[in-house]
Amino acid sequence: MSIPTSEQKVIDAVPKQLLIGGEWHDGGGGETLAVEDPSTGETLVEIADATPADGDAALSAATEAQFAWGDHPPRERGEILRRAWQEISDRADELALLMTLEMGKSVAESKAEVTYGAEFLRWFSEEAVRIAGRYAIPPNGQGRMLVMRQPVGPCLFITPWNFPLAMGTRKIAPAIAAGCTMVVKPAQQTPLSMLALADILQRAGLPDGVLNILTAKSSGKLMGPLIADRRARKLSFTGSTEVGRELMKQASEQLLRVSMELGGNAPFLVFDDADIDAAVEGAVLAKMRNVGEACTAANRFHVATGVAEEFTQKLAARIGAMKVGRGTEDGVEVGPLIDNDQRGKVDELVTDAVGRGAEAVVGGAVVDGPGYFYEPTVLANVSAESRLLSEEIFGPVAPVVGFSDEEEALDWANRTEYGLVAYVYTRDLGRAFRVCERLETGMVGLNQGMVSNAAAPFGGVKQSGFGREGGVEGIEEYVETKYVAMTLP
Ligand code: NAP
Repeated sequence: MSIPTSEQKVIDAVPKQLLIGGEWHDGGGGETLAVEDPSTGETLVEIADATPADGDAALSAATEAQFAWGDHPPRERGEILRRAWQEISDRADELALLMTLEMGKSVAESKAEVTYGAEFLRWFSEEAVRIAGRYAIPPNGQGRMLVMRQPVGPCLFITPWNFPLAMGTRKIAPAIAAGCTMVVKPAQQTPLSMLALADILQRAGLPDGVLNILTAKSSGKLMGPLIADRRARKLSFTGSTEVGRELMKQASEQLLRVSMELGGNAPFLVFDDADIDAAVEGAVLAKMRNVGEACTAANRFHVATGVAEEFTQKLAARIGAMKVGRGTEDGVEVGPLIDNDQRGKVDELVTDAVGRGAEAVVGGAVVDGPGYFYEPTVLANVSAESRLLSEEIFGPVAPVVGFSDEEEALDWANRTEYGLVAYVYTRDLGRAFRVCERLETGMVGLNQGMVSNAAAPFGGVKQSGFGREGGVEGIEEYVETKYVAMTLP
């Protein structure tokens, strides 16, 4: 099947090479990697495959650029981010189409990500000029204390495929604002949005070497030596807990500063005093955003037994009516999953739950044909042993489980090694505070099905990782504190 001209034009506009020291290069080994359209399974384009020598060159470029970039006026660092935000906003339709082609979700959802991802550039353009230190008189009045905030130094960023732009801008924007240089490795399945972003940042005036982009078939071979390289000063990773744990081990060799944005298993709690219609709308957003392939996706719905039937039926009606198809088609709300493995895992989890007695109120099967589609699914009567209650589903499947009281709801919510986000629907103010305080998560959506916001500190606890992206906290990941003890002659 040939690619339509409008789509080909968008793909043609993206650089296909590695960005090292301000120059676009082929991979040193002369190899390429294929980027696939998950709605057809066909190759969209071939791009450069970086070798470890390319990785070394990229880190050299970042290291060479570090001092001058850290010394660059904060206002100008902010202006570069602001210009890039403007260009992304102006070209949002084209960038959304590009994202849909490589990742699958609907163009409307991609456009929402383009807006969200760009917002980190605007937010941190404003934070760049607010990195302040501290001056103090010691308690004994002797001398003075000066606290400086300095860029951490060259950073390594590794990002996943599920939000091809935003997972990059959440790291790149605060690093630029703080005066850090960087080497970025996007996921091999969705590198095009990141390459487009690099091109935009270059045109916005980012000096050579500040941002270096490597795409590769073998991420371990490429990034392992860089994580062990003493010129690198920080690793920020977004991806699975399994890979995060492995990278932590590698980073421990040189005690590299690390931020980890890892997997989730978000509970969605609906109490009997909740506005059920609002809870259903929130549930659709929390579950179906990004085809369920979000670390913040509601993984399991715990609903007070008195309202569980009403909630389940209303949710099934909403989810069952969603149009499945190629993300570029009009009216499509549910695109394909990223690949056949991911779809196979979702199907395996549903089969396990059904085998233990769950009922598919709607959906429950793979969709035939090209591409990696799965039916939007709601499962009732899910047994406590079902794997999808403890494992990250990463697909359009909503299991519903009843609870009898607040203690049981909290017990369910916290019964996981993950701790990224939880959603709570209640109109009882006292309960809202009690439950928010006792949830073991980094974020809570109270009567809302989405928490992402560039102005907020995004991040998890427990095995969902540590570190925060966005908000005033986001810049902290990219500055070191230096204390100068002063004697005044
Ligand atoms: P993944 O398999 O962990 O991959 C993430 C990134 O790590 C990709 O760029 C991947 O490269 C790279 N990678 C894999 N193995 C590596 C290694 N040995 N050394 C260096 N890099 C390596 O995760 P994913 O499947 O892309 O993303 C889904 C996961 O990310 C889910 O668990 C989701 O919850 C999590 N996530 C978390 C957040 C958050 O903010 N907490 C946000 C989004 C996603 P390749 O492209 O070569 O595989």
